[in-house]
Amino acid sequence: MNIILFGPPGAGKGTQAQFIVKKHNYFQLSTGNLLRNEVKLNTELGSEIEELISNGKFVSDEIVNKLLKQSITNLKFRDRIIFDGYPRNVEQAINLEIILNEFNQSIGHTIFLNVSRDIIEKRIMGRMTCDICNMTLNAYFNKKEIELHPCGAEHLKKRKDDNLEVVIARYDTYMTATKPVLDFYIKNSNFTEIDGADEIGQITNKINDILKV
Ligand code: AMP
Repeated sequence: MNIILFGPPGAGKGTQAQFIVKKHNYFQLSTGNLLRNEVKLNTELGSEIEELISNGKFVSDEIVNKLLKQSITNLKFRDRIIFDGYPRNVEQAINLEIILNEFNQSIGHTIFLNVSRDIIEKRIMGRMTCDICNMTLNAYFNKKEIELHPCGAEHLKKRKDDNLEVVIARYDTYMTATKPVLDFYIKNSNFTEIDGADEIGQITNKINDILKV
């Protein structure tokens, strides 16, 4: 059973996906991480992607869909994928349905982490991401965990697109392009909305309850 974690940037999708991966043996398909990996390769495509990400703009559906398909068709991840950051517009939602149908898979749960813009700003401004394991911690709330981070605290870095100007652009894009995707899923019985402003542990418990059903 595949899962979609849906919500604005900074809602905690990545953090919760990492818990699901550990507890339920899932694969986190974060299109943001796949794109950042491409940037690290220093290719021409990588620098095009970097330019878009640093301005809070979407990378083209063509590129993202190609990366997505490589993971969906990987038998190792079959029916154990958490979609984090995809779909981000209605066309991507349609594309996801087509690819999943083609490979006899489906979505078991769509979980919407709903958070207001002021909370998002606070979270994103403190966010640190490990450039080795992709774990995210917050410079204000996780001082101890940062010190003890297994890959070494020096690997926890602020993402270039985690600055106020870009956060505002990303949130606006979310409201105009991504939020309409909710209409696609909200009517389904496997759709659940969670208050993403809750404590991380409370949200994890709610998600665990959903996944037991
Ligand atoms: P994220 O790590 O999910 O916050 O994504 C970081 C950035 O990668 C976004 O602001 C976009 O520029 C790009 N990106 C990630 N996922 C997608 C997607 N599904 N479609 C288009 N661009 C994406």
